[in-house]
Amino acid sequence: MKFIAPRGTKDILPEEACNWNKIEEISRTLFMIYGYEEIRTPIFEELALFARSLGETSDVVQKQMLNLEKEGLALRPEGTASVVRAYLEHSIDKKQSNLAKLFYIGPMFRGERPQKGRLRQFHQIGVEVLGPDSSSPYLDAEVIALSIHLLNTFGLKDFKLKINSLGDKQDKINLSAWLRENLQKKRKDLCGDCQERFERNILRVLDCRNLACQEIIKDLKGFGLSNPKSKEYFKNVQEALKDIGVSFEVDPFLVRGLDYYTQVVFEISSESESLGSQNALGAGGRYNTLIQDLGGGEKLGGLGFALGVERILLALKENPVIKEKSLLYYFVALDEDSLKVIFKRMNDLRQVMSKKGPINKNLLSGYKISPIKNQMSLANKINARFVVIVGENERKEGVVTIKDMETRNQQKKSWKEFEDMFTLQLMQERA
Ligand code: AMP
Repeated sequence: MKFIAPRGTKDILPEEACNWNKIEEISRTLFMIYGYEEIRTPIFEELALFARSLGETSDVVQKQMLNLEKEGLALRPEGTASVVRAYLEHSIDKKQSNLAKLFYIGPMFRGERPQKGRLRQFHQIGVEVLGPDSSSPYLDAEVIALSIHLLNTFGLKDFKLKINSLGDKQDKINLSAWLRENLQKKRKDLCGDCQERFERNILRVLDCRNLACQEIIKDLKGFGLSNPKSKEYFKNVQEALKDIGVSFEVDPFLVRGLDYYTQVVFEISSESESLGSQNALGAGGRYNTLIQDLGGGEKLGGLGFALGVERILLALKENPVIKEKSLLYYFVALDEDSLKVIFKRMNDLRQVMSKKGPINKNLLSGYKISPIKNQMSLANKINARFVVIVGENERKEGVVTIKDMETRNQQKKSWKEFEDMFTLQLMQERA
């Protein structure tokens, strides 16, 4: 079975993604200079919202809105399947070296009952390593270590890494058979979901959150891998992790919910109060048979992880990241002619600023004349550091009045002096 990207969609491959990043980086810089703040809304809404706003009879609502169910499409619930599909569709396995290391950042969708830390549109940061050379315990350890490095760098503290191994396809069949045999007598005491899982995916019983199921599982003795090759691989991953100082706990009941996992799986959970029961920050593992299942060669293995951005942010609330404050210049015009001058000068300054790369400064002004008192109190409210005032007197003298809102100092400078001061600040910031 070969899959291709849905009609009218396009993968952005690594060689193109750098251009996308450049565009995003430039846009972010310019938006900041112009004083814009980012907003992100979900990519699905109630149908009625569009019908009401765009009109029941508009072409968009009547003919153009994408009806996912009718088209046999689904909003992606995770990243791995799509990355593997794209990897095969674009023959990345043939074009690149024997190992493709890819990452993604983006929205995912799950039709779940929402609760704290569980959303219907959420965002993941993930990596996938694919290719014939992917089967090495060092790579498993490196991928796991990368997820921990990211979380540490985000500033997260209290979290725990658990790892386990499910072995290869046959090991998973054996583990399932063992479980069916040993749980047979307790089958009727399991929760409704687990009774259903009994035949189709009994491994899932092991990570069921239902207390009755957990009690039953607790008493299972002798559950685990028997295949020496799989056991050896898992041991080597653990040793590699120890060698690079990554702490972990082996949890023999960690199975992860998805069919595609084989061999090593892992999960990172937060111990922060602010997450409650949805405390998994990220998870991943190896999927040595998935690529073949989706039409790729037998030798192509892979592994990866995904971190949940919203949960990371919730956990960070306990040790908040200090928001870097940007330096805001607020321009105040006292009459229409001054507004015209400011409009032009601000444009010039923004052109200069945009050539300097990311800078922590923005320029704002009003677009209508209002009493200076109102403009100053607005500048105060939005935390402007400097207010740059132009009125009739300033225009006649060819100067601006600059008020430092922190020190309350006020001084007059020529436009040239002001621009020099501003550019000097930019240069110091870049240095
Ligand atoms: P999974 O693909 O289920 O292993 O999810 C990987 C990570 O994505 C989880 O550890 C969570 O941090 C995050 N995640 C998964 N589902 C949701 C959801 N419905 N809402 C918010 N975050 C989620």
